[in-house]
Amino acid sequence: MSTLPACPKCQSAYTYEDGAQLVCPECGHEWSAVAGAEIALGEEIRVIRDAVGNVLQDGDTVTVIKDLKIKGSSLVVKVGTKVKNIRLADGDHDIDCKIDGIGAMGLKSEFVKKV
Ligand SMILES: [Zn+2]
Repeated sequence: MSTLPACPKCQSAYTYEDGAQLVCPECGHEWSAVAGAEIALGEEIRVIRDAVGNVLQDGDTVTVIKDLKIKGSSLVVKVGTKVKNIRLADGDHDIDCKIDGIGAMGLKSEFVKKV
């Protein structure tokens, strides 16, 4: 059996290699077998940037650039707090993370800087 990936368009398993391309015989879709192929699919990939424009990714470590009060509590995330292993999320608070002493919370990417 082939170990080629299924067609990203129609999920057909009968894909084959044609040079550096992968080809789906069922829907005629052709795509690159190399990394970054998702971009060729024309899907919109959401880019989340920190306060200075660095692109953030899952697993990044960031620091908080201003004191952030946590709604509904007296806790404050202090400026300079290091936040490890962030996860990007949808919504107003676009970073999911866990902060020592506080727990799981959402941050806004505009208030953090990648380390
Ligand atoms: Zn296909």
